[in-house]
Order: sequence, then C-alpha cells, then structure tokens
Amino acid sequence: MASFRLPVALAGALGGRIQFGWAAKRIEQEQGIVRVYCSGSAGAHRTFTAERLVCAIRFSVLRDVELVPAFSAEKLRAIRELEHTSVVRTFIQYRRRPWTEWGWSTDLPIMHVLDAAPTQPQASGILEAYRVGPCARAASPLSEEERIARTVRGLSQFAPEVSSEAQRGTSYAWGLDPWARGAFAWFRPKQLTQWGRLLATREGRVHFAGDQTSPMPGWMEGSLLSGQRAAREILSGASGGAWRRGLRGA
Ligand SMILES: Cc1cc2nc3c(=O)[nH]c(=O)nc-3n(C[C@H](O)[C@H](O)[C@H](O)COP(=O)(O)OP(=O)(O)OC[C@H]3O[C@@H](n4cnc5c(N)ncnc54)[C@H](O)[C@@H]3O)c2cc1C
Repeated sequence: MASFRLPVALAGALGGRIQFGWAAKRIEQEQGIVRVYCSGSAGAHRTFTAERLVCAIRFSVLRDVELVPAFSAEKLRAIRELEHTSVVRTFIQYRRRPWTEWGWSTDLPIMHVLDAAPTQPQASGILEAYRVGPCARAASPLSEEERIARTVRGLSQFAPEVSSEAQRGTSYAWGLDPWARGAFAWFRPKQLTQWGRLLATREGRVHFAGDQTSPMPGWMEGSLLSGQRAAREILSGASGGAWRRGLRGA
C-alpha cells in the first residue's frame, strides 16, 4: 500500500503522522469512540482508537470489513451493490517514435492507444493500450507477460511500422488489486441520484471520504472535495448532507 509516490509525498508533509501498511479489518464504535482493528505484514495486528474516523476505503473493499455495530441498511446496500469498472493499462516501449498524434481509439481488443510519454526527449517512445470494461475483464486473468505479448501484437496491427521495435512492457489490472478491486465506482443509471448523498452520510462517528462519496466519482478532484467535506463535517458536527456543496466551492 505504501509503494505509490503521491501518498508518500503527501505524508512526508505531515511529519510522520501517516502510517502505511495497516489494513482495516474491523471498525467498531462504542461509547464515544471508534476502534479500527488492522492487520499488517508478517501477521502483525494493531488497533487504532479515536473520537472520529474518516473512512476513505473503496466500497468494493469496505464490503469485507467487519462493521460493529452494522451501518444502516441503506448504506450497507449501497456499499454492497456499487459496482466498479475494470481497467487494464499496458505500456510498451519502442526503440523510436514515428507517431505524431497522442491518442487513438481502435476497434481492436487493445481499445484505446495513447502516447504515454509525449514530452520525453529521448528517441524511444511508449505506447499505452488502455482497455476498459469487457476488454479489460478479458485481459485481467492473463499473466502480465501474456498481456504484454497480446498488446504488442495488437499494436503491430495498429502501427505496423514499429512492430519489430518493441523493447519491453509493463501492465496493471486494477481489478486484481486487492485494495481497489476495480478501477473506480461505476454508477448504474439513477444510482448516483439515489445514493449520492447516502454514500457520503456519516454513520455515527464514522465519516466517509473518497471519490465515490463526492459529486465527481472517478476523479481525483472528487477525492479532494470529499476530504474537505468530511473535515467540515467533523468540525461542524454535520452529517454529510453537504454532499453537493463542494461543487460550488462552499
Ligand atoms: C486507470 C485509472 C485512470 C484514472 N485516470 C484519472 C484521471 O485521468 N484523472 C483523475 O482525476 N482521476 C483519474 N482516476 C481516478 C483517481 O485515481 C481516483 O479518483 C483517486 O485515486 C481516488 O482517490 P481515493 O483516495 O478516493 O481512493 P484510492 O486512491 O482508491 O485510495 C483508497 C486507499 O485506501 C487503501 N485501502 C483499501 N483498503 C484498505 C483497508 N482495508 N485498510 C486500509 N487502507 C485500505 C488503498 O490502499 C488506497 O490507498 C483514474 C483511476 C484509474 C484506476
């Protein structure tokens, strides 16, 4: 969980108050406190206790965290039923970069093709295949090597002039990430209207953040807005009803 550079950089500014590597397994509320039971590496366990909790775990993962007492029935239903779309991104480095555009849509299983390093000064270049939905779900179970091999073959159809110049590749499937279980929340028609406010509403001393609890799900800005909203809730004692206020910058 600590391998990503953005959270590590943000944590650095907070003077060691952020601790990585603890997975929440159980959230317990009683008598004015919240306890979060966590597991770490090598079988380690730790309990964090606080007056309030901001829970920013994706609902796709939160549905397996034990909640004592349980959240409201409506919230549990939304946590259980909110779906997450699938994305697989595969990057192939080529010895040279004869292309001049930065992005194309194809009707091949590789789907969208992007120049992943348009501003790099080197002669070599990187093309990305961005698979979503069914194409991503078809590619996810494959080994990374197989995904890379299929992407090289797909890109060869798309750009035959570089087909023999692939050097190496890497690939990531968000559906296989145990801390994400999908790329981002994917609302069915009317679910955002039906659940939007509910997803953000606090449950006792547990407040919610994360892009899925914002009016901009699937965007980093949504995450930031939700964090501001959760902080305002705690400072003001509100319940999460100010779901849309972030849009107006209120
Ligand atoms: C392929 C892809 C492309 C994207 N492109 C864009 C884009 O171009 N522009 C844009 O604005 N946004 C984009 N996004 C969306 C953006 O990445 C998200 O909106 C943002 O990362 C969500 O942040 P978050 O903090 O809400 O959730 P996350 O980033 O998912 O953070 C949740 C955190 O909770 C941790 N966690 C999970 N389970 C537990 C647990 N049990 N205990 C403790 N911690 C746990 C996870 O490790 C993670 O660090 C993209 C996302 C994907 C997947």
